[in-house]
Amino acid sequence: MTNQRSKLVVGNWKMHGRLAANAALLEGVAQGVQSLPAEVRVGVCVPFPYLAQAQTLLGVSRVVWGAQDVSAHEQGAYTGEVAAAMVADFEAGFAIVGHSERRAYHGESSELVARKTQRALAAGLTPIVCVGETLEQREGGTTEQVVGTQLDAVLAVLSVEEAARIVVAYEPVWAIGTGKSATSEQAQQVHAFLRARLAAKGAQVADVPLLYGGSVKPENAADLFRQADIDGGLIGGAALKAGDFLAICAAAGVGASVAE
Ligand code: PEP
Repeated sequence: MTNQRSKLVVGNWKMHGRLAANAALLEGVAQGVQSLPAEVRVGVCVPFPYLAQAQTLLGVSRVVWGAQDVSAHEQGAYTGEVAAAMVADFEAGFAIVGHSERRAYHGESSELVARKTQRALAAGLTPIVCVGETLEQREGGTTEQVVGTQLDAVLAVLSVEEAARIVVAYEPVWAIGTGKSATSEQAQQVHAFLRARLAAKGAQVADVPLLYGGSVKPENAADLFRQADIDGGLIGGAALKAGDFLAICAAAGVGASVAE
């Protein structure tokens, strides 16, 4: 089977970066992507204060920038929150929602993630909706139940047209920042499950980009991206080095043209 969908690779900088280091990283990525095949789309999700810097330094490149979260509220007395419309003011394209670090450290429920997804869409952003199971849940055999419930909570509040505009990232919690990636077979199995779940929402939703995230590195990227239902990656640690990130983006170019 050939995966005809274009590939998307998005960096998640998490809470890393300072102005000077960012400039070198952003310029390196902007320059490096010029030699990538056209079917590989590239994004970077930076901390909120650096959206303006990303806009300035990536503006004329093909790299799309974005945020790592948005508020579930439109505006108002929510000290410390950042509205999706504020992110959109910086011509951002993406907003990650429901990252496992937000779910774990900030108690974000799937219902809250669903509201954030709606806010991102309403502001014209593409939400990257993260789902994933813990090691305990995987070992307990409930992976599909967990990720299915997380995805369903989001799909339930979206129209078919809205759902067709999201990106989904499968990020097993046990693989994030641990150096221990899911095998390409493990990832493909969950992606195929998520693809079916998306298709059940409507034919237009079946082809939304499904990214894998969790210790993706230049060494394992091509194998992951070659899988039938893996349309690219959400990259944490390896997105902080231009060389590694670009090598992963290049692997997506290879994967895009390989028949399964
Ligand atoms: C992430 O934070 O989304 C992520 C996938 O991290 P890492 O690549 O470092 O595992």
